[in-house]
Amino acid sequence: MSSSVRTRFAPSPTGFLHIGGARTALFSWAYARRHGGKFVLRIEDTDVARSTPEAVQAILDGMAWLDLAHDEGPFYQMQRMDRYKAVIQEMLAAGTAYLCYTTPEELEAIREAQRARGEKPRYDGRWRPEAGKVLPEVPAGVAPVVRFRNPVEGVVAWDDLVKGHIEIANAELDDLVIARPDGTPTYNFCVVVDDWDMGITQVIRGDDHVNNTPRQINILRALGGTVPQYAHLSMILGDDGTKLSKRHGAVSVMQYKDEGFLPEAVINYLARLGWSHGDDEVFSREQFVAWFDLDHITPSAAQFNTEKLKWLNAHYIKLTEPAELAADVAQRLAARGIALEGGPDLATVVALYRERVSTLVELADAVAPFYARPVVDEALATQHLTAVAGEALAALASRLETVEWEKAALSAAIKEVCAEKGLKMPQVAIPLRVKLLGVPQTPSIDAVLEALGRERVLARLG
Ligand code: GLU
Repeated sequence: MSSSVRTRFAPSPTGFLHIGGARTALFSWAYARRHGGKFVLRIEDTDVARSTPEAVQAILDGMAWLDLAHDEGPFYQMQRMDRYKAVIQEMLAAGTAYLCYTTPEELEAIREAQRARGEKPRYDGRWRPEAGKVLPEVPAGVAPVVRFRNPVEGVVAWDDLVKGHIEIANAELDDLVIARPDGTPTYNFCVVVDDWDMGITQVIRGDDHVNNTPRQINILRALGGTVPQYAHLSMILGDDGTKLSKRHGAVSVMQYKDEGFLPEAVINYLARLGWSHGDDEVFSREQFVAWFDLDHITPSAAQFNTEKLKWLNAHYIKLTEPAELAADVAQRLAARGIALEGGPDLATVVALYRERVSTLVELADAVAPFYARPVVDEALATQHLTAVAGEALAALASRLETVEWEKAALSAAIKEVCAEKGLKMPQVAIPLRVKLLGVPQTPSIDAVLEALGRERVLARLG
């Protein structure tokens, strides 16, 4: 299936790829995939004071981790300056834009007077050419800006795919500056030229851009371009119901990687952040692409729920092959200075824990004591490593010297010690866990013993 659908993700590289940006990217990507179209990546780096190569890399890394591959780009706006300037010249020639010599001081005086009259401050159009109008004399030594000649009549309207019909009177919009005195194009103008040149058919972006849309549509029309459809996604609120921000901790996508989330879980989670398919909560990327549409995006803000993300992550961890999990966990252990050499097979140990954790960090925490002998917490030792327990563990240790090293025999050995000492299973198994792994709870103790191996068990019991 191939179609003319072309979507784009157009981040400004001023920070990390955050959760909101990742969701915008996901929806744009999925819409293109769903319709057999193309997904374009465009880096909006014209804010040179705030854009950094590190931020570009962070965005590329985040998208690669989420496996949101673009079909075209990345296009960098800073590399398209000549194109924007050429379009500005064409607009000046066509009369859809004009030079304006109003100085910042004059502009401030105009606004001041408007405010004093109780009017909305805006450019008063003094340099806007009109039939029969005499323009002021061009002042010497003033570099002009270029302004777009916004229509004065009628309304600009669009049917937003999320927010519904939106319209605004042209009389509300003043003539936007599209090039600064030094000739550099302004933000809204670059976006329009890019969406036009890149043949974008659906603009899916955050609703912080709703106010730009009427201006962008007017400029696009003046250029003779086809107006795309717009879908403005509502903002994402943090767990506490306030606008998601750095205060909420992990807002960078890559931080979720560090915190042990799987990309599948993050994708599944983001997909449900403002979009729904009936009551479906758990679905694969492929399923999402097959289902995704712009009709089921909620216009209200979506609230982030870390617990739900963790729940999904636990689900995807369970579905992941132990060997694959082990490859990730090995790196986390190495970063903690824990060597695997000489220890039990990591995939085997991971398999014991994969159904019990909700992040890969928790998984690494759980398996670490198999490779680095834990220091038993004093309170735990006092509670569990009593004299009675000590005797039982000594008796067990001597049996474990010769027992066949497999689960059934290991389990039988523990039961024999329980019978011999008149103890219940937990009275032996819990001290045993504390002594071996430093924690009172683990997967079934026979499996733990089997995985740890005779030598390590005896050393730790000794
Ligand atoms: N560069 C803008 C941003 O990062 C997005 C612009 C757009 O999608 O039109 O918020």
